[in-house]
Amino acid sequence: MTVKDKVIVITGASSGIGETTAKLLAKHGAKVVLGARRATRLQAVVDDIQADGGQAVYQVTDVTKPAEVQQLVQLAQDKFGGLDVIFNNAGIMPTSPISALHTDEWNQMIDINLKGVLNGVAAVMPIFTAQKHGQIITTSSVAGIKSFAGAGVYGATKFAVRNLMEVIRMESAQEGTNIRTVSLYPAAINTELLHTITDKTAKRDMDAFYQQVGIEPSAVANVVNFAIDQPEDVNVNEFTIYPTKQA
Ligand code: NDP
Repeated sequence: MTVKDKVIVITGASSGIGETTAKLLAKHGAKVVLGARRATRLQAVVDDIQADGGQAVYQVTDVTKPAEVQQLVQLAQDKFGGLDVIFNNAGIMPTSPISALHTDEWNQMIDINLKGVLNGVAAVMPIFTAQKHGQIITTSSVAGIKSFAGAGVYGATKFAVRNLMEVIRMESAQEGTNIRTVSLYPAAINTELLHTITDKTAKRDMDAFYQQVGIEPSAVANVVNFAIDQPEDVNVNEFTIYPTKQA
């Protein structure tokens, strides 16, 4: 079974990596179910996909709310009769030095980038366990495999989801449930992510860096497509995606 006809839930689908991936997978025949908070943007993505002959629905979803993530997964089953993949992609990146004590933003990152992924895992796990197959793809970051000054809490959430994906893979192998997991470690990708930075110095530095080296979100979408396209007994589970220009 390839990407074609798979039912795929995508969080953070209203812009950037999620939007681009949704469009690519739908172009290849997947049935995509989109979640994020901005209804207008989600509707526009669905309209684009349908105009291109693809199948897509959306539901306004805040990934910090377990019931809303469960409803998104339920929508996939109601509309398309099953579920094959969840792409836990929603995230924010308000970077700042720890000494600046932006503690509200620390909590938001933990709620969205970590607990949001856990909410996705909890919503699909009963389905994947019962049907003995399923794929959980999560957007970690290069900040989830090495440390960056200014990305203390952001990196903490991304290291955490990396660990989570690997443990689910191991436990599934032990339990014989055939749940595949994929961690994505993108570097600088040109999206709306930098809009979430409130620290003025961090924002200025990141804007300048991304302008120099950033690449398009299609780089990540192509990798997701590749991972979903693998045979059921193959788990390609970790990908770094760097701009050629980024050291
Ligand atoms: P964008 O800002 O373009 O996309 C982020 C998406 O997350 C949006 O669709 C946003 O939608 C959604 N989102 C944010 N908060 C919530 C929430 N509480 N509930 C539901 N959806 C939410 O940035 P990217 O495409 O770059 O980000 C996607 C992922 O990629 C993130 O996890 C990010 O950490 C990761 N990443 C990005 C890199 C980059 O350089 N761009 C590098 C490494 C990792 P809405 O506001 O409508 O809810």
